[in-house]
Amino acid sequence: MGKASSLSAPEVESIARMTNRRHFLNLMGLGLAGMAGRSWLSAAAQQEADAHTLDTDLVVFNAKVYTVDARMPQAEAFAVKDGRFLAVGSTADIKGLIGKRTQTYDARQMTVVPGFIDTHNHGGGEGLLYDVLVGNPYQVEFVTIDSIVEKLRVRAQATPPGSWVEGYFHDDTKLKDKRPLNTQDLDRVSTEHPVCVHHRGGHTGFYNSKAFQMAAITKDTPNPYGGTYDRNEKGELNGRVTDRAMETIDKAGERVTWSAEVKQKRVLDGVAFMSQKFVQYGLTTVHHDEDGVLPAMQQQRIRGGLLHRVSYEPDGELLEAMIHNGIETGFGDEYISFGATAEHTVDGSFSERTMAISTPYKDISPPYHGNLTETQEDLNAWVERVHRANIRLNCHANGDVAIDRVLTAYERALKLYPRAGVRPKITHCSLVNDSLVARMKAMDVVPAEFSTYAYYNADKFHFYGEDVMQHMTAFRTLIDAGITPAAGSDFSPGPFAPLMAMQGMVTRTGWNGETWGANQKITLEEALRVNTLNGAYNAREETIKGSITAGKLADFVVLADDFHTVDKNKIKDIQIVRTVVGGNTVYQA
Ligand SMILES: [Zn+2]
Repeated sequence: MGKASSLSAPEVESIARMTNRRHFLNLMGLGLAGMAGRSWLSAAAQQEADAHTLDTDLVVFNAKVYTVDARMPQAEAFAVKDGRFLAVGSTADIKGLIGKRTQTYDARQMTVVPGFIDTHNHGGGEGLLYDVLVGNPYQVEFVTIDSIVEKLRVRAQATPPGSWVEGYFHDDTKLKDKRPLNTQDLDRVSTEHPVCVHHRGGHTGFYNSKAFQMAAITKDTPNPYGGTYDRNEKGELNGRVTDRAMETIDKAGERVTWSAEVKQKRVLDGVAFMSQKFVQYGLTTVHHDEDGVLPAMQQQRIRGGLLHRVSYEPDGELLEAMIHNGIETGFGDEYISFGATAEHTVDGSFSERTMAISTPYKDISPPYHGNLTETQEDLNAWVERVHRANIRLNCHANGDVAIDRVLTAYERALKLYPRAGVRPKITHCSLVNDSLVARMKAMDVVPAEFSTYAYYNADKFHFYGEDVMQHMTAFRTLIDAGITPAAGSDFSPGPFAPLMAMQGMVTRTGWNGETWGANQKITLEEALRVNTLNGAYNAREETIKGSITAGKLADFVVLADDFHTVDKNKIKDIQIVRTVVGGNTVYQA
């Protein structure tokens, strides 16, 4: 206030002029102001406009721009200055903004869209670089059990006996053998090491005999709360362990560790690798549900190795530290800021068929309703504590039973401590019904829905059946109810490619040609919005991201083909030509 009142009259006048001009630019685009406005702009204003025109950083023209801005859904060109979109409009208008120092980009009629946003991703670059990957992280690929055994054998040879040998990115329905992995398979890896093959979904593991032995788990050990030790027809352990039952077995045995220096290098390398992968697929913002990498992200940002923007979702000690020290959601800047909490897990998994659902799973006896992994009481207490600290809530709930439990806890906390614009998040929010949807709408719950599953995991939907799939990952239902669903790949569980996500959303058809829950199809425009603007909304960032709009961060992607004209079943194959973050090209094909 003090500062503003000490401004001189000409300064005040100049600010007023700029404010008016900015308002005008937002509506019309600076190009129009420069051309059509010439006749009535005052000489001084014209001089100022020209000065600004000349230092535009980047002009992209001759493009098919899908802006995801309802006020101007399509355009041909835009200008960027200081990392933000300055104006959006026709090629003729925007070309008027090319100055001496302006970089120009003739898009030659290629398609340009806002940078894609993934609202649920576990990152994991360190693992991608250094772990044994027994499946393909990025796309559909079938492998053999022999290949898994062989890769782990090699790792076992370099691992001291008694220490874990682990494989990652296993997908139980992408095996050429057409039967599940079992203990006997993994005993072929080693009888001296505990061995685990982790399902990419993260809620089940497949263990060898040594692992069970070391954890003193036998066929007679009862299942713990929230998990199972699965058994075969003879009642013997078959190797598969689900959800919270993994906690006990994973505690047995040693894990190979590294010196602080080596560990730091691994994590740094991992962050840079992951960031390169994200921008290669067109992601410009990712919500990271990933523990312990925040320091490395900041380091890589200084070194220029962090190419995308991060909404960091805190967990464990970090979340506790935030609560104790008053650090709230949103703290940070436009590259790294704190988002909602990491997903607070309330039930099992969609892909691994352990989510908590009201109708029992098909063909399993005794009747199995999935795993609830937390009591209502404990959940209520956690939600209340986090909400009171003004940190945005985020619970993992897949099944209708779990979603009900989460909504109950959210409703309770918001009633006890009402606040505007809370937008509590539900990660996955897979199986809904009308009453759950109405309760979500009432609180403006923002769901991070599985994005690539419709395509990638179509081979698993028969476990649920068509009746259930009509209410699963229910984009159509959610949008029609006025809810703002965003894309959440959950990588590693799902591949993170946004174009694979878009294809699945508009077709509901999988890699195997099967279509499930076709009633939940959405349009191309809606799918684009889900993967961009809705992602921004999910983190309360819609005023700075998610569309190609004057004033927003200049994050965009150039596509070789227009998804409106290619075969809908080939959207995932459209080439990403260029990814730009804050006006800087971070990936180029
Ligand atoms: Zn997750």
